[in-house]
Amino acid sequence: MTNFAADVVVVGGGLIGLSTAMHLQQMQPRARIVLIEKDAEFAAQQSGRNSGVLHAGIYYEPGSLKAKYCVEGHRALSEFCDRFDIPIIRCGKVIVANTEQELQRLERLNDRGRENGVPDLRVIDRDELAEIEPHVRGASALYAPHSAIVDYKKIASTYAAVFQNAGGKAQLNSEFLGVTAKKGRYRVQTSTGDIETKLVINCAGLHSDVVAAKMGVKPGLRIIPFRGEFFEFIESRRSLVKGLIYPVPNPSLPFLGVHFTLRVDGSVDAGPNAILATKREGYHRRDFSWSDVASTLSFPGFWLLAAKNLGPGIFEINRSLRKSAFVDSLRGLIPEIEEKDLIPRKSGVRAMAVDRSGNLVDDFRVEESPGAIHVLNAPSPAATSSLMIGKHVANMADVRINAS
Ligand SMILES: Cc1cc2nc3c(=O)[nH]c(=O)nc-3n(C[C@H](O)[C@H](O)[C@H](O)COP(=O)(O)OP(=O)(O)OC[C@H]3O[C@@H](n4cnc5c(N)ncnc54)[C@H](O)[C@@H]3O)c2cc1C
Repeated sequence: MTNFAADVVVVGGGLIGLSTAMHLQQMQPRARIVLIEKDAEFAAQQSGRNSGVLHAGIYYEPGSLKAKYCVEGHRALSEFCDRFDIPIIRCGKVIVANTEQELQRLERLNDRGRENGVPDLRVIDRDELAEIEPHVRGASALYAPHSAIVDYKKIASTYAAVFQNAGGKAQLNSEFLGVTAKKGRYRVQTSTGDIETKLVINCAGLHSDVVAAKMGVKPGLRIIPFRGEFFEFIESRRSLVKGLIYPVPNPSLPFLGVHFTLRVDGSVDAGPNAILATKREGYHRRDFSWSDVASTLSFPGFWLLAAKNLGPGIFEINRSLRKSAFVDSLRGLIPEIEEKDLIPRKSGVRAMAVDRSGNLVDDFRVEESPGAIHVLNAPSPAATSSLMIGKHVANMADVRINAS
């Protein structure tokens, strides 16, 4: 057991914790910053199990943190990949419309993307779509030529290396258990010993509400885990997809709809769907945790959310249980796909923050409390935005360190 003193303890070695630690160590070179991660490696949860897309910033409410940090984060992360020789494929993305309603929504998305400052965004016709994605059926599409794919695990390990090279300390296999406060100092209990510190930064992703609660904060939201299941194409059928192919999202639903994603290793994914998970890190159907299920079911906001989304919820369960239903959704974009073209791939789990009224918290949310800063909501496009969110949180910490 190690017991020592630090200036800042960052909880969570996903993209957000690592980016925050990296930025803060650069702002405060003499500060003793310790990052603790409960897993044996960095980015084993959301950050290492996502779609690998560097989003352009089209979908998000103008003026929101998501819109601002996604557009800026796209540019910053693209430069970061070039600087550190991290693979990035600028394959572009099409959002495909077929029905009259989708065409109208596409125009609104185009306006929104332009307002958010997405460069070179434009609506293309059937012929141009066929040149970009020959196997897609679509009357029209919104084309974002700079959307790209990256390896977020590699990005996370590079953030960790930059942080450690600047003097930061990272402890793997070290779980945050709780905190006691005494005269402006905090004693963080971890599974590998206690750390005395002045400031804790909570970047615990799927567990961020639990960590906040252990520090006496009641954020009025609960993290509800939603599993996203993917298939991948068998090798001989990967050529059906050249880049990123998305449907026009239904504005009343929080997810983008099942889509096709080229990955940097050349494989091609289809998915994800969105299924309520019975464990915060429940990557398989049978994964179950009594305490996580109790945490979901005891929260009034969950029942209000469930009541509002009963229809889509049943649709998603059917699509999860029946591959044919999943493939039917995909055929809306690429009609020639067959069930035998797809095999299951590892799932991800999204941390969805829900408020007491049953609304999904849409924008990124960071809150302060005595002795702590909490990143309470960092859903997609948080990987794309990770440099900007990390800088934002590090700036908040920098102000507090300078004032102390
Ligand atoms: C299926 C899926 C697809 C996605 N696709 C994209 C995409 O294409 N592009 C995009 O921009 N975004 C995407 N996202 C979103 C993005 O991946 C996440 O928003 C982002 O990775 C969140 O990072 P994080 O650091 O907050 O969380 P995490 O990556 O979950 O990291 C939190 C870390 O905290 C650790 N931790 C938790 N509790 C403790 C504790 N008590 N003690 C110590 N450590 C602890 C965990 O082990 C974990 O490593 C996707 C997400 C999912 C799930």
